[in-house]
Amino acid sequence: MEKINLDKYKNIKRRIEREFINLNPIQRGGVPPVESKKAIYEYWDGYSVCDYCGGRLDQVKTPSICEFLNDLSKFLDMDISRTTHGARESKFIVMHSLCKEGDYVILDENAHYTSYVAIERAKLNYAKVKNNGYSTYKIDPQNYKETIEKIEDEGGNIGLILLTHVDGNYGNLSDAEKVGKIAKKKGYPFLLNCAYTVGRMPVKGKKLKADFLACSGHKSMASSGPIGVLSMRDEFAEEILKTSKDYPVKEVEFLGCTSRGVPLISLMVSFPYVLERVKKWDEELKKTRYVVEELEKIGFKQIGIRPKEHDLIKFETPILDEIAQRDKRRGYFFYDELKKKGIGGITRGVTKEIKMSVYGLTWEQVNYVVDSIKDIVLNKI
Ligand SMILES: *Cc1c(COP(=O)(O)O)cnc(C)c1O
Repeated sequence: MEKINLDKYKNIKRRIEREFINLNPIQRGGVPPVESKKAIYEYWDGYSVCDYCGGRLDQVKTPSICEFLNDLSKFLDMDISRTTHGARESKFIVMHSLCKEGDYVILDENAHYTSYVAIERAKLNYAKVKNNGYSTYKIDPQNYKETIEKIEDEGGNIGLILLTHVDGNYGNLSDAEKVGKIAKKKGYPFLLNCAYTVGRMPVKGKKLKADFLACSGHKSMASSGPIGVLSMRDEFAEEILKTSKDYPVKEVEFLGCTSRGVPLISLMVSFPYVLERVKKWDEELKKTRYVVEELEKIGFKQIGIRPKEHDLIKFETPILDEIAQRDKRRGYFFYDELKKKGIGGITRGVTKEIKMSVYGLTWEQVNYVVDSIKDIVLNKI
């Protein structure tokens, strides 16, 4: 064997979550509570949840995975739930089992790249429902009807209606119930991508007319991950959960088992914490709106639906761009200055627009973030 330098595997460290206030929207909802961190110690071996497995992950009683999945369904107002490796795998499983090659998925223009990749992997086509453009990028449910009818007129076969509940670009909350009603009326299954919503804010699947919810443990359910949830209505269970010819206890679309060990344990142990925190969603919105209000005073401009209905904030920041022209660190000045104040999670070098979230931070921390950003900007103009 050619010599391998092993030094790079020693002392792998990460400081941001311990030593900084992290504003990265993709990471704010995935921070596990202390109880979860403790449980991880007990379960960090491979296949650790398999001590008492009789062949099916979803039926394991010790630890109580089986009951957990039932509780998840109650929490989500759905019938049956399974864990997956992430929201993307949840979407792929639905597409792969319900659609035939070449079918159309109707999806919103704000959809995540993983929706497109899942469509491609499942060998499907798609048609996009346009948003209303700059600066709100809102999805009008009525445009779903038009896009569906356009594809029907062209003779395309529609297999699935997909809506991004909250998108990762603008943090816009879509009107799922209206899209769900349109899907129902037209007779197509409706998948709601809840990667940014379930676990952060209250989501009731049946109320929103969803047939499927795709959720993300590491994005929004306080889990180490990688893990996702696929929750469905009874009527689709047979199709989605079909078992193998050769191994009759194994569910084919899940390749027998999905995410297990630490990802699953952290999702389970964080569940009571997640249940409590979604009740405080109004307070999170207050924090988010406060940040927008304060930072717009210094020349930031919030993009997307106003007022904010989700914690992910996208700002246009011409003021940062202006400062960057004069600073010898160029675009890196902002990242650099934030770091000095113990704040991280803003993309390095980018000054035209920034994304951030203060989800789960205390008011004291929120105030500190706002004051720090003001301080940096006002001292530079
Ligand atoms: C983050 C994100 C995903 C991907 O979630 P995974 O659980 O990592 O697969 C999918 N959709 C949206 C809208 C997201 O923001």
